Amino acid sequence: MNIIMMGAQGTGKGTVAGLLKESLNIPHISTGEIFRKNIKEGTELGKIATQYADEGKLVPDEVTNNMVRNRLNEEDCKNGFILDGYPRNIAQAQELDKILGDMSTKVDVVVNLNTPTDEIIERVMARRECPNCKRVYNMILNKPKVGEICDNCGTDLIMRKDDTREKLQIRLDTFFKETKPVIDFYEQKGLVKNEEISISINRFGKEVAEDLVKEIKK
Ligand code: ADP
Ligand code: ZN
Repeated sequence: MNIIMMGAQGTGKGTVAGLLKESLNIPHISTGEIFRKNIKEGTELGKIATQYADEGKLVPDEVTNNMVRNRLNEEDCKNGFILDGYPRNIAQAQELDKILGDMSTKVDVVVNLNTPTDEIIERVMARRECPNCKRVYNMILNKPKVGEICDNCGTDLIMRKDDTREKLQIRLDTFFKETKPVIDFYEQKGLVKNEEISISINRFGKEVAEDLVKEIKK
């Protein structure tokens, strides 16, 4: 099962993908996480990515497409994968079709998460991350047990460098301008499954993931 997670910043793509990974036993591939890891480790890829990611801008397609092609050709993707954060524009979506075609496989389902924009801003501002084990928390929706300290490993939580109001606005603008058309692209192929996630309807990532797993396993 090859799954693509779509949705604006802060809708819970990572949370839902993490839960799907546990239930379906296929890898969760977050391009944002891969870039952040490379930036932290100071690799060649990281040196290129940091100039863009720190500003909330997209890393050039060529760099991103190559990285994704390499990752999808690894052994653990043989039985499927969950892509989170890719494709982000039409050119990447077309490239993904080529990558999967070369692997004799295809996109099976595109999960599109929708959250009201006011709530998105609130959620991202409340987001915290463990710099050590990478677990993500939310000071409104999913607080750590003690203060702002990781439940897993006791490390002080931090905010992502690009989670400022200004950089979030740049990322959201890019989402609506470049990534929304990708959802339409998959909509035309009949692959999109729309899901609402919002405090106002009391529906969160956990419920969405559980429903998706039920459907997929059917
Ligand atoms: P966001 O919360 O903005 O969705 P991500 O964690 O998905 O952030 O990605 C962080 C950063 O990594 C992005 O701002 C961008 O610079 C880079 N990035 C991630 N995925 C892609 C992609 N598919 N194409 C280009 N750049 C990407
Ligand atoms: Zn931790």
